[in-house]
Amino acid sequence: MMEYKIKGKCFYCSKPTGYLVGVSKAGWKKRIDISGETCLEHVTDALNKIGTLSFGTIYWPAVANHDGALLYHSFQADKRKLSYVSGWNEYLNQSQRT
Ligand SMILES: [Zn+2]
Repeated sequence: MMEYKIKGKCFYCSKPTGYLVGVSKAGWKKRIDISGETCLEHVTDALNKIGTLSFGTIYWPAVANHDGALLYHSFQADKRKLSYVSGWNEYLNQSQRT
């Protein structure tokens, strides 16, 4: 299902990666078209880069883990009038609380 090949190096800083960033359609619950990978610190930069091209059109920025499982879909944030970066920060806060 996942066509992207993991390199293991952050696009921005060359640190080991934990996240795959790409785009997903509003109705896609699991699928993500991955365009790159980043460390935790640089997910926001990747979302910004992808988001300026795609947000609110057909594709929404999304984040998956190394297994390709969708962690965050910014369509959900958009529905609640949050920016894709705010939505991601909210996801992080929630996942760190547990
Ligand atoms: Zn990085």
